[in-house]
Amino acid sequence: MATPKYMVFNGDVVPFADAKVHIASPAVKYGIGVFEGVRGYWNEQQRQLYVFRLREHMERLKQSMKLLRLEDNYSLEDLEDGVLRMIRANEFRTTIQMRVMAILDGIETERHGTGPVTLCIQGSPKEPHKFLDRGLTAGTSSWVRPSDNSLPVRVKCNANYVNGRLAELEAKAGGFDRAILLNSRGKVSEGPGATIFVIRKGRPMTPNTTSDILESITRESLMAILKDEFDLATEQRDLDRSEIYAADEAFICGTLAEVSPIVSLDGVPVGDGKVGPLTRALQQKYLDIAYGRSNKHPEWRTAVYGGG
Ligand code: PMP
Repeated sequence: MATPKYMVFNGDVVPFADAKVHIASPAVKYGIGVFEGVRGYWNEQQRQLYVFRLREHMERLKQSMKLLRLEDNYSLEDLEDGVLRMIRANEFRTTIQMRVMAILDGIETERHGTGPVTLCIQGSPKEPHKFLDRGLTAGTSSWVRPSDNSLPVRVKCNANYVNGRLAELEAKAGGFDRAILLNSRGKVSEGPGATIFVIRKGRPMTPNTTSDILESITRESLMAILKDEFDLATEQRDLDRSEIYAADEAFICGTLAEVSPIVSLDGVPVGDGKVGPLTRALQQKYLDIAYGRSNKHPEWRTAVYGGG
């Protein structure tokens, strides 16, 4: 990752190197913090950068803060404005990945404290996801997604990603590109940083939001695109692991993963082991909307630079 020049730290634009937190803060000691991964898509023809679904990401950040009882002194407008100021300060004119993070700070703060909260917004240039074209191999993890009554995955909390790390390390050791986790009921949950869809006999299916998944914004966007563009309603329900082996197509999706095809699970080819046609068409529609090459869903894009 190239180091950016600036980030927004507690509302101010500061040099990247100056954004610091004390090692004794609960954020460091216990991983108490929440965050959002957000993308900005650069449209070269229009010389414009579009932030994808900024409002929804900031709403989810506030929801995560509420569920962890973190003091929230920011309005949605403040948060959105912070993201735009960070981008403009760095003069990004390329596709970027951003992180907006609210952490529990202070050297005297107890684990059950609610403040002070430090808010930081950073971004850096990002290539398209590396598995977009050829797809990825996935392995079912022996690690289980934490359940809602232990460590709710609905909260996009820093500490949750330890579970993802274990699954990623295991997948890598097993020779797979990515992990898929099951939940405590043995049903399909999600990847460490992405939601999963399968397509069987033309029917898209995805785990429901009570399957111990993050309420993914990409998942919701893709269901809307599947309905509008392909006239396909997505089944949201408990999904069995064997339904992935039986699927014609499968993919993971997320802000970072975009729409990344899964070509095999546990060495079993998904469909014929090639990227599926509906997955490819959906990926194209999604990226066209995100980059602003399509005029569909203008409400999902926030233009960063004036004048277009
Ligand atoms: N699940 C997890 C655990 C994630 O970290 C992400 C990435 N934010 C997703 C799913 C996908 O969510 P979104 O589409 O909102 O990026």
